[in-house]
Amino acid sequence: MAPATDTPVRQESLRAHNLSLTFRQIVGAPAPISRIELAVATGLTRPTITRIVDELLAGGLIVEAGPARSGNSGRPRVGLSLAPTGPAGLGLDIRVDALSACVVDLTGTVRHLAFAPRPPAAADTLARLADMGRAAMAAAAAEKLTVVGTTLAAPGPVENAGVVRFAPVLGWRDVDAAAALRHALGEVMVDNDAGLAALGELYASAPALRNFVCVSGEFDIGAGIVLEGALLRGARGWSGSLGHVAVTADGPVCACGATGCLQHYAGLQQILAPAAPAAAPAPAVAIDILASSGDRDTLAALDRAGTALGVALSALINIIDVDTVLLGGSYSLLASWLTEGVERELNRRVLTASWAPVSVRPAPLGPDAAVIGAALSAIDRVRQDPNSWLARA
Ligand SMILES: [Zn+2]
Repeated sequence: MAPATDTPVRQESLRAHNLSLTFRQIVGAPAPISRIELAVATGLTRPTITRIVDELLAGGLIVEAGPARSGNSGRPRVGLSLAPTGPAGLGLDIRVDALSACVVDLTGTVRHLAFAPRPPAAADTLARLADMGRAAMAAAAAEKLTVVGTTLAAPGPVENAGVVRFAPVLGWRDVDAAAALRHALGEVMVDNDAGLAALGELYASAPALRNFVCVSGEFDIGAGIVLEGALLRGARGWSGSLGHVAVTADGPVCACGATGCLQHYAGLQQILAPAAPAAAPAPAVAIDILASSGDRDTLAALDRAGTALGVALSALINIIDVDTVLLGGSYSLLASWLTEGVERELNRRVLTASWAPVSVRPAPLGPDAAVIGAALSAIDRVRQDPNSWLARA
């Protein structure tokens, strides 16, 4: 026989489970949802729903959104929706041309988005990010929002504990970014920027888009892969290093040590190099200006880049079968120059393209996708399980 102390523990976890279950229905509802609809959707009794809703209202996680519509009885039903105040997520991002900070509320709405120049010395990057994070938290507090988690979007492969393994443009190797920011910002998660950009785009395009690759050309070319509405992370969270897929067997040696990597043909600095050998602070803008003025070297480099991207993406899509490619990050600014080459190679190389062509288009959130995705991933912990917020409130 189980010890008697088991019983209250089980009841408590059941209570927490039912509360999460109900809350996730409100999170996923496209419009305000009534108590009766919640009871139907969850299979819980009306008194249980009433108690849970009272708890969520008291904790400031939901609000009554007024009479949503009339039921069969003709009585108006009060709709429930997520609160625009209360918990919020903070995202930080290191881009080629800037650092950015973003706060999203529980509804996923962007409430604060700020940019600062990226310091020339890579060592100053984390200090500047800490300052931006503190300013974003203060801006959030002024709007009755409390930042409950922070996620940093970083280039290159990131270890789960927050160690950036390899980001050559920043001069980072085995940099513990989470530890460096913890003193200023509390607990910080660090994740790969391309994956977070894909999360941002997934959220912005839901529910229309469920299977896609979002390829971002920032420092290293990364691909965030979304299958059935979920980000494919890989065993160690290192999936999507598209920049180091070989597009030629015997190309030049890459910073990673291999030869013929996509990065050499489609990296922003490499596209820009023939026309402007010095590194530009905002390479995508510089490329767009040169291409628009008809600069032949730049147009040829863009053509090479589109072709190489199409070759690498074809290999990926032949294996994972997605129906859409989003040109994300800085590539979204160059989509008009890259799309044709990418589509041409996909149509040639993806086995099933003649039946079902892969759609190629600019990502809606563009260069802001990673920082918005980072903030969304920070608030998602509360969206999935509101019990921690209720316990602290
Ligand atoms: Zn490489």
